[in-house]
Amino acid sequence: MSRDAFAPSADMLRADEAITRLLALVEPAAETERVALTDAYGRVLAEDVISDRNVPPHDNSAVDGYAVRFADLSAEAETTLPVVMRIPAGHVPERPLAPGEAARIFTGAPVPAEADTIIPQEPCREEDGRVVLPPVKKAGQNLRRAGEDIVAGQCILGAGTRLRPQEVGYMASVGCARPLVYRTVRAAVFSTGDEVRDPGADAPPGAIYDSNRYVLIGLLRDMGCTVRDFGILPDDPARLRAVLQEAAAEADVVLTSGGVSTGEEDHVKAVLGELGTLDFWRVAIRPGRPLAVGRVGQAAFIGLPGNPVAVFVTFMMFARPLILKRMGLREVLPRPVPVRAGFAFKKRPGRREWLRATLEPGDDGLPVAQRFPSEGSGILRSVVTSHGLLALPEDPAEITPGMVLDFLPFEELKR
Ligand code: AMP
Ligand code: MG
Repeated sequence: MSRDAFAPSADMLRADEAITRLLALVEPAAETERVALTDAYGRVLAEDVISDRNVPPHDNSAVDGYAVRFADLSAEAETTLPVVMRIPAGHVPERPLAPGEAARIFTGAPVPAEADTIIPQEPCREEDGRVVLPPVKKAGQNLRRAGEDIVAGQCILGAGTRLRPQEVGYMASVGCARPLVYRTVRAAVFSTGDEVRDPGADAPPGAIYDSNRYVLIGLLRDMGCTVRDFGILPDDPARLRAVLQEAAAEADVVLTSGGVSTGEEDHVKAVLGELGTLDFWRVAIRPGRPLAVGRVGQAAFIGLPGNPVAVFVTFMMFARPLILKRMGLREVLPRPVPVRAGFAFKKRPGRREWLRATLEPGDDGLPVAQRFPSEGSGILRSVVTSHGLLALPEDPAEITPGMVLDFLPFEELKR
């Protein structure tokens, strides 16, 4: 009989099945609020933003120079025209440009009607109210057309979009001052384990410091969640019960690490089963096979494994999509980029594995991934020194050099 605890079997979920089931556990938070633009960074739009205007609102000059009618110019010789208007940015031309006239114009200023070309000031000379223009071969230069960025009535950003600085600026450009966003998702976090201590406290023989909580709190904040920290809980069902109840009462998502294996001291599952609904999943993945998933009241619960690398990986692959959905995001799955394996590796068929890897330039345009030499799921250094996770597909038993694989950069976690 095989004693390999990782041998894939019929009662094991494939990684993509686990993600699908996880996403079915939550809906976007129903509550929304309007916020000022300066409070909108990182938030998620709860409605489409429709522009009620053209951007730019008028044809305008892309340079400091002279607005002219192209028909008045020569392709071979200089042309001298009277300067009949001066149009700084923010001012409206007094009248259309008549044939044989030029207008002094500045960047961003509305172009007078009938002018079709702007000549930059550098090759021009202005003397006694007249401008000497260089030969010009092409009509329509240096003119920015009304609506060339946004047309009135256009949906500029859809509901479910994360608002990065560029999206916030884009909304500002159409005059949207208070976008409607989903309310911030509240997360609660605690670690479990009699051996786990908080940095700053003594670590007696047999104890280790808590790294998981500090990883999770940061990952959640990067995503835009508020986080309530419930600290470290001993392997004691009564304490777990009390804290889980409190956490679930105020959070949308409760995340824990440790205590979800099948050992005698792993009480998280049992307590979850008492307080809410429990799905205990054996997922055919490495690292991080056991995953406790469920609900306590209104809150979704995800019990991550204890090993720090497994925490990182299962957060990225499972917890993050669920939380992003809850936040109202339309795109919740990480976006892999193709890379080539720079190594050979034997894996177990039927199991999805994520190696930590660094990228180096390749010969054919695809970067080459080198794996962190140790797969140990307790070696947090692998996450510190690598660039991201290299996904090994389920089926093959062997990864050969040059094989194209999916790579998930750690920056993806900030999205
Ligand atoms: P468990 O799933 O509780 O059996 O934990 C698996 C492994 O992860 C054990 O070696 C634990 O000591 C370790 N571990 C659990 N929680 C943490 C934590 N918060 N920080 C660092 N290591 C942990
Ligand atoms: Mg434990």
